Amino acid sequence: MLPDTEVAIIGAGASGLRLATQLHRAGVDCVVFEARDRIGGRLLTVDPGVDLGATWFWAQETDVVEVISECGLTSFAQYSTGNMVFQIPGSRQVLAGNPLNANSYRLTDGMQSLARGLADQLPSGAIMLNTRVVSLDYSDGVVNIHTSEGPVRAQRAVIALPPATALANIAFTPHLPDGFVGIARQTPVWMGGVTKVVAIYDTPFWRDRGLAGSAMSHVGPLREIHDISDEHATFGALFGFSREAVSAQTALAQLGELFGEQARHARSVIVEDWSRQPFTSPPGVRQLNDYQLFGSKALRAGYWDDRLFYSSTETSVDSPGHVQGALAAAGRVGQQLLIHR
Ligand SMILES: Cc1cc2nc3c(=O)[nH]c(=O)nc-3n(C[C@H](O)[C@H](O)[C@H](O)COP(=O)(O)OP(=O)(O)OC[C@H]3O[C@@H](n4cnc5c(N)ncnc54)[C@H](O)[C@@H]3O)c2cc1C
Repeated sequence: MLPDTEVAIIGAGASGLRLATQLHRAGVDCVVFEARDRIGGRLLTVDPGVDLGATWFWAQETDVVEVISECGLTSFAQYSTGNMVFQIPGSRQVLAGNPLNANSYRLTDGMQSLARGLADQLPSGAIMLNTRVVSLDYSDGVVNIHTSEGPVRAQRAVIALPPATALANIAFTPHLPDGFVGIARQTPVWMGGVTKVVAIYDTPFWRDRGLAGSAMSHVGPLREIHDISDEHATFGALFGFSREAVSAQTALAQLGELFGEQARHARSVIVEDWSRQPFTSPPGVRQLNDYQLFGSKALRAGYWDDRLFYSSTETSVDSPGHVQGALAAAGRVGQQLLIHR
């Protein structure tokens, strides 16, 4: 039997963790239930220090900047010096300058350090890893939460994961209004259909050739490519996005076409297909593409007598899709919960 709590937060991504720190600070008892064996959700940094999920933030993203400062994290400007490469069928061109990477910043220890910084502000036991929520039911002012590790009772619950993913994996009783369900099921998961490929090299050798490491391609499989070497270039790395499944071999062949023979010989290659991550993306995620549903009123409303709320970047009107959106959503839900306390 897991401990009862005032607020149960489902999901230890940026949104759920930010909400937990805000509630904790306001003296509200809360527990975060996380299905994976790690925190961060779409914030995922792996050896030797490369981001497989979110990479950048921007200076105008006030909540991100605030959390970075609160957590004492350090950042650096995305490498952007040099020219970008443009690929169309049968042709590769080098364009003057690099408009792709203007004004973006990265965290020195990777974007997952933001999740760790938030988690460090919580008391021990406030985050339960490997605890998948499978159903919620509501009656008489109590939300009963059924998890892979047993039941929990909470006064309120917050679903801090993409709405379409929540509806695919979690049963809600009584049924949520049709208007909400229709919108939630159709709301895209930001980057949920993307495969990110990272190729790691001993050095960022393209820089010596006047290249920024960025490219746009109308050929693929990688459509957009960027330099993701660490701050002091102790290793070189390029990453690319693909909308379809892609092998390391095919990705390296394309990097070779774009950046020269040396790019074919990476030290290692990591392929992360987010569409195959059930705690991020529902089945058929690539068919969800109505981005106007982001921040819909129905996603921002309270349900079950204001005992149930949704908080993820997809629910935000401020920078939906970005980490900023996830943090802003947490701010909104935090206010909604405190009003109803
Ligand atoms: C490849 C990629 C690149 C990106 N690049 C950028 C970028 O450069 N800049 C930027 O700002 N944003 C970027 N993003 C988006 C950014 O990562 C997200 O906006 C943000 O991390 C979303 O946070 P969240 O808390 O809303 O959701 P999530 O991070 O998805 O968190 C949801 C959490 O809920 C958990 N969960 C799911 N189901 C259950 C369940 N049944 N029970 C318990 N727990 C559950 C999940 O495991 C996860 O930890 C990128 C995303 C991807 C995938």
